[in-house]
Amino acid sequence: MEFELTDEQEALRDESRTFAAEEIRPNAIELDRAEEYPSEILAELGDRRLTGLTLPESHGGRGEGLVELAIVIEELAAALMSVASSLALHLGTATVIDRFGTEAQRDEYLPEMATFDTVGALGLSEESAGANKLEMETTAERDEDEWVLDGHKQWVTNFFDADYVLTYAKTGSEEAAPHNISAFFVPAEAFDVETEWDTLGSWSVKSPRVRLEDVRVDDDRRIGEVGEAYVQRGRLHDGINVPARGVGIARAALEDTVAYVSEREQYHQPVGEFQGVRWGVAEMAERIETARLLTLRAAARADAGTDVSREFPMAKIRATEAAIDNANDAIRFLGGRGYTTDYHVERYLRDARLLTMAGGPNDVHRNSLADAVFDEYGGSS
Ligand SMILES: Cc1cc2nc3c(=O)[nH]c(=O)nc-3n(C[C@H](O)[C@H](O)[C@H](O)COP(=O)(O)OP(=O)(O)OC[C@H]3O[C@@H](n4cnc5c(N)ncnc54)[C@H](O)[C@@H]3O)c2cc1C
Repeated sequence: MEFELTDEQEALRDESRTFAAEEIRPNAIELDRAEEYPSEILAELGDRRLTGLTLPESHGGRGEGLVELAIVIEELAAALMSVASSLALHLGTATVIDRFGTEAQRDEYLPEMATFDTVGALGLSEESAGANKLEMETTAERDEDEWVLDGHKQWVTNFFDADYVLTYAKTGSEEAAPHNISAFFVPAEAFDVETEWDTLGSWSVKSPRVRLEDVRVDDDRRIGEVGEAYVQRGRLHDGINVPARGVGIARAALEDTVAYVSEREQYHQPVGEFQGVRWGVAEMAERIETARLLTLRAAARADAGTDVSREFPMAKIRATEAAIDNANDAIRFLGGRGYTTDYHVERYLRDARLLTMAGGPNDVHRNSLADAVFDEYGGSS
């Protein structure tokens, strides 16, 4: 059993860590407060083809797997979670094209998506399709060589800078579920913005609610088989980016805490010498290690094509909750300063709060995990 990264993975981690430290972190507070899309940062990540990390080299990507995705996302999220979210959602749409698109679609879209010159967004969730995507109401009706789409998408991360939204829509009867949903690569300008949410965190990359009315797209914009898009999506496991974002925030919270409590003095000694603080710091480190090990193990198993029905939900739950707990502890240990916008830690808490819902609520992952545990131990689920 290998617990260490390979030399290549370490090099990738170092490249991402240096980039994050030099290009993202110094601007993170300002980008967040100004609610400014990190376009220059994402363009640079595009130049490095990190936005095409898991796409094939033949189509401009770096040909890496989910372990490498988790490594890079941790580094980006440690500096500014919105950058990691934007990259992950974009790459997720490109991955659907790579895995389920036609050769012509791969040739048309992937090279520019690998470099972030074409930006993708995901249109899956709806008002009535939150945890349960099968309740979506958006429809696509066939009209000769075209499809006519009607409906809305409740949250579309990257929308304001996206060129295309990978839009999931019902194309079959309810009886056929889950084989009744298809995906279409719809130009972003075909949507109208209905709501620009005012959110707790994730301020520099917005996720508005958007509407489609009688939008016509050619059949060559359909990605994957008719009726199979939702089922096909379940085979990807690129949702590993969500726990990886959690590991990044949890780690940044620990780094900032150690730096602060080592300097800050009260009662004529650094506060980091009080046992309560030291034990708190030790617990923060334990949470990170547990979260990272679970995340990398789930990613490695998915890369190997092995079942992740226990491993994925464990990673998702543990890592996203570690991010919230560590961010909360960081504010505690930084005292009043941690509550101000002069420091990063208040943002960590606001951003971390998204992660227990992004990629499906943790409670739903607890249900999946419980099913897997009952199966494993021979009980009834
Ligand atoms: C900022 C932001 C960005 C997003 N970006 C995107 C995006 O780019 N594309 C996209 O498609 N979606 C996106 N989402 C949607 C996100 O994936 C959903 O919010 C998520 O899937 C949960 O749906 P919901 O919010 O409607 O929660 P609901 O489904 O309403 O769930 C609410 C709560 O009910 C409980 N619950 C629900 N079902 C169960 C169950 N079976 N068992 C136990 N408890 C349950 C849980 O506690 C859950 O947290 C984004 C969301 C946010 C907030």
